[in-house]
Amino acid sequence: METESGESRGLNFVEQEVLADLRAGKNGGRLNTRFPPEPNGYLHIGHAKAICMDFGVAEKFGGTCNLRFDDTNPVKEDVEYVDSIREDIHWLGFDWGDREYYASDYFPQLFDLACRLIKEGKAYVDDQSSEQIAAQKGTPTVPGTESPFRNRTPEENLDLFMRMNAGEFEEGSRVLRAKIDMASDNMHFRDPIMYRIIKHPHHRTGTTWKVYPMYDFAHGQSDYFEGVTHSICTLEFVPHRPLYDYFVDQLADETYRPRQIEFNRLNITYTVMSKRKLLALVREGLVAGWDDPRMPTISGMRRRGYTPRSIRRFIDTIGYTKYEALNSVSLLEHAVRDDLNAIATRVMGVINPLKVVITNYPEGKVETVSMENNPEEPGSGTHDMPFSREIFIERDDFMENPPKKFFRLAPGSEVRLKGAYIIKCEDVVKDADGNITELHCSYDPDTLSGLPGASRKVKGTLHWVSAAHAVDAEVRLYDRLFDVENPAAEPDRDFRDMLNPDSLVVKQIKVEPFVADNAAPGTKFQFQRIGYFTPDYDSAPGHLVFNRTIGLRDTWEKEQKKG
Ligand code: ATP
Ligand code: MG
Repeated sequence: METESGESRGLNFVEQEVLADLRAGKNGGRLNTRFPPEPNGYLHIGHAKAICMDFGVAEKFGGTCNLRFDDTNPVKEDVEYVDSIREDIHWLGFDWGDREYYASDYFPQLFDLACRLIKEGKAYVDDQSSEQIAAQKGTPTVPGTESPFRNRTPEENLDLFMRMNAGEFEEGSRVLRAKIDMASDNMHFRDPIMYRIIKHPHHRTGTTWKVYPMYDFAHGQSDYFEGVTHSICTLEFVPHRPLYDYFVDQLADETYRPRQIEFNRLNITYTVMSKRKLLALVREGLVAGWDDPRMPTISGMRRRGYTPRSIRRFIDTIGYTKYEALNSVSLLEHAVRDDLNAIATRVMGVINPLKVVITNYPEGKVETVSMENNPEEPGSGTHDMPFSREIFIERDDFMENPPKKFFRLAPGSEVRLKGAYIIKCEDVVKDADGNITELHCSYDPDTLSGLPGASRKVKGTLHWVSAAHAVDAEVRLYDRLFDVENPAAEPDRDFRDMLNPDSLVVKQIKVEPFVADNAAPGTKFQFQRIGYFTPDYDSAPGHLVFNRTIGLRDTWEKEQKKG
């Protein structure tokens, strides 16, 4: 596959690096990646990009991929997130077998390593506050200032570190720092914090620990303990890589060492990808939950009716590079539409119903017409749909004073009812205020499939449902969550102020009975001429609810230009 990065031989740059390592026989020819989510929120489409990379490269070259929960901050983490992460990865089509790990599994080893580094004079306890420490960091061009506690003896450091973990000191009162180089060009080398005191119970280890490792100290070591060979992450970790290597050096030998490789994050238009902001949307009730179908989360997309295949194809299309970019959500939507076009069952639903009485059709008569389930999918068969004297059509499909090129229904004009007869508008019925309440039409009895007039041509074909048989349903029409292309690039505005007020419109509609009978969770429908729909989790017999996954065409770009 050719990617955006234009790599030759069909491999992206990460795959090329991995292949080169395998060919060079590094790590005994082993390939082991990991996907390391912090269980502090639900996964989003950006994580899907990382998942496709981590699991994908392992699959491609016969390696394995671990799922490792990076659970080093008990304050923000929760089992709810662990469960949702597992479900989302499986749904995307990947499996970690029995290789489910937790950074917290390594707390004992990490603690031992910290003690060893203390004894070797490579780590010290600093009694300063995080503000004081930050103030001494310097800038990229100005060296930092050494802490007054930097030269404590190993014995004193060890004693203090043990007492930190025993709970003797308050949160924030002391940290353990690596003793590296306060003048380093790389800010991450200026005596980075290794451990902090947290007294909040951990979702797995309870109250065993009172000190918790920082990302930079935990990540590379966890990779090492786990046998990970390629630790693939996003570009913001490039400046952390020397520190990753420094800590790995404390453990590794020439037979095995994990290596970090970075690729560009996924950013897409009209949404935010920051877990902090997504959490705020959920907590503040600005969306209906993590799986609100407007959210960029995997669970939201699943609920909305996106397919895992469309997400994987989208990620394939955009590819992996070494520079940051903003991808258009239209690309993702295109992939979704493409996949749904291939698999969705074609049905009829009328969003803004207008009653049509076919005055020359016998009262009480019901005919059954046959509808193709999916013209894109040979062998998908047909289903029956009732036709009768009173039907609903889309209000927009009628105009009393139509412009020249209006090929739908107008006084005196003819249209075909999809899969049924040609009708002609004879009369417009209005209420006292002049609103159109119904249309009176005649039908041509010769125009049903199989009859001589079946091939008679008229310009327009409309979708419809039989009024007596139609079932009421609620539809939720979603639009972009934000009405600003890149909310993250507006530092002066609160992201809440950029929410699209029209991101959810609820309507009561009429659907053909087949839809009601087949509204099992996960079903994919194309409501003809309207869009793709799927039953929502709130749907139940007697109260059908459908999410519009996406419209049939990309109308957004056009509307933006108009508006
Ligand atoms: P946090 O700010 O909480 O660290 P995070 O989005 O980095 O948020 P993690 O749970 O640490 O969340 O991410 C797990 C993995 O997913 C990491 O390897 C990270 O690099 C990757 N990842 C996160 N966001 C994106 C994104 N937008 N595009 C690609 N990969 C991402
Ligand atoms: Mg992270």
